[in-house]
Amino acid sequence: MSLLDKVRAALGERDVSLDCASCGQRSWKGGWGELGNLYGLLPGVTPDGVIMETPVARGGLAVYPLICSNCGYIRLYSLEVLVGDDR
Ligand SMILES: [Zn+2]
Repeated sequence: MSLLDKVRAALGERDVSLDCASCGQRSWKGGWGELGNLYGLLPGVTPDGVIMETPVARGGLAVYPLICSNCGYIRLYSLEVLVGDDR
């Protein structure tokens, strides 16, 4: 099962409305098209503006975008909340 499928299933289990907040249609695609198992990593930044990373690790929030294929509106979901470690 692709990450996109897992995100869609998790949203369905939680009764999340799939109506686009911008145009009202229900036409979503994963943020990276055919590469449905990729996700985004929002960087953590200190109050001083320093990005939290070392040569071997990067601190950040794992997110998955759904993009409305009609108007381009982007929803961003936390993978920790939706799928936990099952990426
Ligand atoms: Zn839309």
